[in-house]
Formats: sequence, C-alpha cells, structure tokens
Amino acid sequence: FHTLRLLLGDQLGSNHSWFSQHDDGVLYLIAELKQESRYVTHHVQKVCAFFAAMADFAKSLTASGHRVLHLTLDDTAEFANLPALLCHVLQITGARRFEYQRPDEYRLLLQLGTFAVPGVQVEMVDSEHFLLPFDEISMLFPKGKHILMESFYRRMRKRFDILMDGARPMGGQWNFDGSNRNKLKAADIKNLPEPLLFANDISEIVLRLQRHGIVTIGNLEPQATQAITKGCKASYVSGDLFDAMPDLEHVSKTPMNNLLWPINREQSLALLAHFCRHCLPLFGRFQDAMTANHASAWSLYHSRLSFSINSKLLHPGEVIKAAISAYEASCIDGANGDVDMAQVEGFVRQILGWREYVRGVYWANMPDYGMLNALGAENRLPHYFWSGDTRMNCMRHAIGQSLDYAYAHHIQRLMITGNFCLLTDIDPKQVDDWYLGIYVDAIEWVEMPNTRGMALFADGGIVGTKPYAASGAYINKMSDYCEGCHYDIKAKSGALSCPFNSLYWRFINKHAERLGANHRLGMIFSSWYKMPESQRTAILATAEQYIVDLERL
Ligand code: FAD
Ligand code: SF4
Repeated sequence: FHTLRLLLGDQLGSNHSWFSQHDDGVLYLIAELKQESRYVTHHVQKVCAFFAAMADFAKSLTASGHRVLHLTLDDTAEFANLPALLCHVLQITGARRFEYQRPDEYRLLLQLGTFAVPGVQVEMVDSEHFLLPFDEISMLFPKGKHILMESFYRRMRKRFDILMDGARPMGGQWNFDGSNRNKLKAADIKNLPEPLLFANDISEIVLRLQRHGIVTIGNLEPQATQAITKGCKASYVSGDLFDAMPDLEHVSKTPMNNLLWPINREQSLALLAHFCRHCLPLFGRFQDAMTANHASAWSLYHSRLSFSINSKLLHPGEVIKAAISAYEASCIDGANGDVDMAQVEGFVRQILGWREYVRGVYWANMPDYGMLNALGAENRLPHYFWSGDTRMNCMRHAIGQSLDYAYAHHIQRLMITGNFCLLTDIDPKQVDDWYLGIYVDAIEWVEMPNTRGMALFADGGIVGTKPYAASGAYINKMSDYCEGCHYDIKAKSGALSCPFNSLYWRFINKHAERLGANHRLGMIFSSWYKMPESQRTAILATAEQYIVDLERL
C-alpha cells in the first residue's frame, strides 16, 4: 500500500470524494479504540451504535471494491492510543503517505495534527460534511463574542438559497417560532406517531465491551421508562406498533438485545423518510412539548436523525432537501400529511441554523471554551443522573428515557436536566461529561456549546444573551409531568414545593449583579423585587435547603 487513510468513527460518509476512485494501493483504516470508549463513560447504546456503524461501513466499502482494514478492540487492545496504532499499521503496510479527514473534535485534531512518522507524508483533507466551509468560521465567529444565531441562520438561508423566494424568505417571514411550540393536549397525545426502530444485532459488540472492561452507562433495552409510564403500552416493540407501519422495512420485531438506532445509510434514509412522512407534519408545532403519557413520549415528532447526521451517514444538505421536498409535495397534492411552512422552516432552522452555528462557536473558541465557568458553579452532579431515581417527575422521565434510549429531545435536555443543573450550580465539567456520555449523538463539537453555552450559560453569553433558566411554571406549561409529581407545582416555598420554583428565584437573586442589567430579564427582576420580603425570604430558605438536599430530591 502506498497510502493509509484513516476513517474515524464519526466519518462514515460514503459520498466523500475519497471514494469516487478505486486504488488498490490505498488502504482505509477503521478501528475500534479504547481511547474512544473511555474519554468519558458512554451510554452502552452509543458505543454499540458507533462500533456497529463502523463495522457496517467497512463491509460496504469493501463490497464496493475498496481495500479496508477494520480492527476491533480485540485487535487494537495492545495499542495505548491512536498514534501508536497508526505507527504500527504504517509500518506493517509500508505506506509512505498517511491521510485523514479533518476531525470534528479538538481532542482528535490535536492528536492527529501533531502526528508524525519519519519518511511518511501526512495530509489532512476536509470531511466534506458541513455546509459552512471550515475556513470561514474564524471570520463569522470572532472568539469570545456573541453572534446572534438568527442572523447567522438568515445568512445561511440566503447563501445556500434554502427556502428563499428570490431575496425574500419563502412564506414572507424568516422564522415561524410564533406558530410553533404548543403543548400536547390529550387528543394530540393519542395520535403520536410510533417511532421507527431497528433491530441491529450487537451481541458480539456487547461481549467485546465486556471482554475489554469498557464501563458504560444506560440500558441496552428500555426499562425505566416502561416502569414509570402510566397506562401506556408496556413495550416499545409491541405487535400493534408494527401493524401500524406495514410498509416500513428494517423495523425491530424482536425485543432482545438489538440496537434500535440506524447503523448504516440504508437505515438512516429509512428513518429520514419515516420522519418526513409521519413526524414533519407536526414537528414545529410540538417541538417543545413533553409528555409522560404515551409509549412514544420519548420520541414525539422528533427526527432522531442526529446520530445518522453526526456520524456522517447522512449529509445535512440531503436531510434539509428531503424535508423541503416533503413540503413541496404537500403543496402540490396534499400528500405527506400536509407539511406546512412553519413545520419545514422549524426543522431546517435546527440543521442549517443551530447545528452549523454551534460548530462555529466550538471551533472559534476551543480549547478555552472547555474551561469556561462564568457563573462559578461547583456542585456535584447528583446520583440520580445515573439512575433516574428522583421524586421530581420531570427529571425522572427525562433521565429515565436517556438511560433507556440514549436519547432525549432538545427541550428535555435544555429545560429539564440542563435547567436543573443551571439552577443548582452544577460544575460544568461534570455536566459536560454526562451529556457527552449519555446521548447517542454526543460528540464534543455539538455537545459542548449546547451544554456549557446554551444550557449552563457557563460561557458568559457567547451562545445566548441570557440564561435559559425557568421555573416549574414553564415545565408545567409545556408538559404533563407535574400531574402526579411528588412536589407541588403551585407552591413556591415549603417542604413539598416544586424545587424548580424556589431554585429559579434563588438563581435570579444570586446573579442579580451580573444579569440585572439585561433588558431581556427586566420583567423577571421587577417581579422578584415586587414580592413581599417575607415571601422572598421563604423562597430563598427553601431553595438553600434544596441545595443542601440535592442528593435527596
Ligand atoms: P430534532 O429535534 O429532530 O432536530 C433535527 C436536527 O436538528 C437534529 O438531528 C440535529 O442535527 C439538529 N439540531 C437541533 N437542535 C440542535 C442544536 N441545538 N444544536 C445542534 N444541532 C441541533 N445535539 C447533538 O447532535 N449532539 C449532542 O451531543 C447534543 N447535546 C446537547 C446538549 C444539550 C444540553 C442540549 C440543550 C442540546 C444538545 N444537542 C445535541 C442538540 C439537540 O438537543 C439534539 O441535536 C437533538 O435533540 C437530537 O435529536 P433529533 O435528531 O431528534 O433532533
Ligand atoms: Fe418537575 Fe416541579 Fe413539575 Fe415536579 S412539580 S414535575 S419537579 S416541574
């Protein structure tokens, strides 16, 4: 072999220009590595999803005529890290040239950027995945500065001519947030779509993880959610679920030890088609809604495409295109369940806007970003983040389903668990590690700006101009979690009062100096100061007790 090309676990894009030509002198290396399974404690479904997708990609590359070396943990265990393995493979193959795609994580860029072997020429190429060219990031995202997501998003819409009518936004407005964000009513809950699940055999991977002592969190199959979901179908693989979707292939028909996440392009495209058909029609409307009362409560109208996109099985451009095609088809003949502009714009904004935006923030601000702790938060993450064992119903559901599925949707991540960590001063490093470990889609470039920036305000306002702090009232408005909770959503203080209520006012009071001048928080501060002194004292006393009792909530 004259050339060794490395493919990292999140570089599984078959449309990369590398694969447009065949060369028997080029060897592609895909390797399971201990260093990647251990930099945080990952959810077992996350490790299995990446390892299974890597194996599948190696198989399909080989089938299409490329030369591939796929190594499992059994083969790589003796190598301390990636550079050690690369040196070995370069030596045994005799390759004089080493190429890799730009890694999306700073950690790996550093490791590969400093990799050198005498006599071997090293070259980094673009991953050809993102819409915004990497070189433009420093121009659009000045280090340490807040850039308004909405302005960035509009720039991207114009630049790539997406949902545009000439120079104007299609539908007459850029943003349809106003018509989105509804709560799910009982009638809506009955009609929630069933999620499309897969049945990928991961038994060998699971054994391998055990053999190599890889510690993981979470469940291989849903458990907690079944136990805490009242009056719903008991299993996510119940027979009627499949009867409802007779036209879909690849769905899981057996509940045992199978991975429900897509692990290849074919499955990812099936999930994309399922989303456009069954979920996109109401995606925006219920984007921020949460419920405990349905077997599909964990997935709702969300696409669950983040693993496929982040591992590059799908290109963000093709996902956007598929959603717009569904919208256009629905304009012509009312097919696809009436996808209107508010739904498709809401979806496109997440991928063309937020996803590209957080990548810009990450690269413009690393490595310092990973150390930011603007609010000086230092508390420990309570034990129930690993068990779901808490009396706060909202937290029990958000954490329980994360442990069950390696997945929670955005508002659960931001306004339940993230909000809780913000209000209780949890150390951002511990929060980052939890988010980076638990979600199937978690890769640092996208996890960190969302967690440290958006959820914790630890970046002091680079992502958002104000913290996403909220009391129980928000959770009650957007969900049915508060019904039947141990705590009283209406009470602001006292032993059984909703912890989010007093902790919210404690947060506002504690950060009055830093946040008081923020005009977006003016009304909040005036409500706080209008409360009678005795009420404020009672609220703060309750909140301080909750901080002391953090492990027992
Ligand atoms: P959908 O709701 O169907 O949205 C469609 C797509 O839009 C997603 O697949 C994703 O590619 C993109 N998207 C939506 N919101 C964001 C966002 N804020 N940032 C970047 N992309 C977005 N996303 C990750 O991919 N990996 C993470 O590790 C991650 N960590 C997060 C941590 C916190 C604290 C928060 C608040 C958000 C995090 N997100 C992360 C963003 C978002 O919550 C997930 O992308 C989304 O929930 C994935 O589910 P989905 O595919 O069903 O998304
Ligand atoms: Fe969560 Fe408070 Fe509602 Fe309980 S009452 S579910 S703790 S917001």
